[in-house]
Amino acid sequence: MTSLSVIVPLFNEEESLPELLSQLYGAMQETELHRLFPEPFTFEIIMVDDGSTDNSCRVIERLIPSKPELRLISFQRNFGKTAALSAGFMAAAGECVCTLDADLQDDPFAIKELIKKLHEGYDLVSGWKQERKDPLSKTLPSKLFNTVTRLFTGITLHDFNCGLKVYRRAVTRRLELHGQMHRYIPVLAEWDGFKVTELPVRHRARQFGETKYGSSRFFSGLFDFLSVLFITRYLRRPMHFFGMAGLISMLLGFSISLYITLDKILLNKPVSNRPILFLGILLLILGVQLFSTGLLGEMLSSSSTKERLFAVRESVNLTTAQAKKFGSTD
Ligand code: UDP
Ligand code: MG
Repeated sequence: MTSLSVIVPLFNEEESLPELLSQLYGAMQETELHRLFPEPFTFEIIMVDDGSTDNSCRVIERLIPSKPELRLISFQRNFGKTAALSAGFMAAAGECVCTLDADLQDDPFAIKELIKKLHEGYDLVSGWKQERKDPLSKTLPSKLFNTVTRLFTGITLHDFNCGLKVYRRAVTRRLELHGQMHRYIPVLAEWDGFKVTELPVRHRARQFGETKYGSSRFFSGLFDFLSVLFITRYLRRPMHFFGMAGLISMLLGFSISLYITLDKILLNKPVSNRPILFLGILLLILGVQLFSTGLLGEMLSSSSTKERLFAVRESVNLTTAQAKKFGSTD
């Protein structure tokens, strides 16, 4: 079995690739790294070309004949970093999986440090760009993003979105990524009960090419944040979210309507000239709608796959067929 799979998502990074691969191969030769795995140490480097329009693909293809560990998955068009990582995870055969940006901003020689940390008993070790070498227009939004995510999820990482991370295979096999959710991988992993931690890593300024993320990431980031919150908290029980909101709205609407009705019956006050009447009606309708959304959600979630109901740490003495189902071996 392969000891380590290194996944590199890349989009138009032709200038960085030769240097990146030479550093990466240098890092893979280190005995300090080999000692962290049972003999013999084997590795693979999976380059995921996310629809590059420059020569990135050709640069890699040219190297492949002389490098049996090098693999290339090339997308039809640009699908985004999340898709690229997800393809890499699907392909990875290593017991340990590492991701790394292609732009030379991450240091390949830090991989062994992260794996050392992993062996202390963690399932995911995320790099922490303690001294980030990026312009203020990137570091400031990123600080905000990290603080908000920390507050809402209670996970005490400083840098959720570092390209450099190492995983135990169990984590990458389980992750289901959508949208631009690679930023929330530590959140999704921790939610499944995996042990997540971080380690400060050296960060370098971008030498070639340019960043692929502009200000649009603000909005997509916000929506992904909401879906991650929803997925981790309420995916399995939509009724708890919509049902509760619906119930409160219905109760309020009902009380208002009752109050107006009693006023009419007991004190003979006219109903038609009271603005609050509309609020009552609105809240009643809104409540019913929320409630039925919750019900629909329940139906959908009970008919969808059961896979995400649980995460298996270990299974012992199962038959091959059983083990396949519970997916803790291979
Ligand atoms: N990337 C990708 N697909 C995209 C955008 C980026 O595979 O649609 C890769 C990119 O080539 C790089 C990594 O993701 O290897 C991080 O991107 P970038 O350096 O632009 O992000 P930043 O470091 O500026 O946050
Ligand atoms: Mg970068």
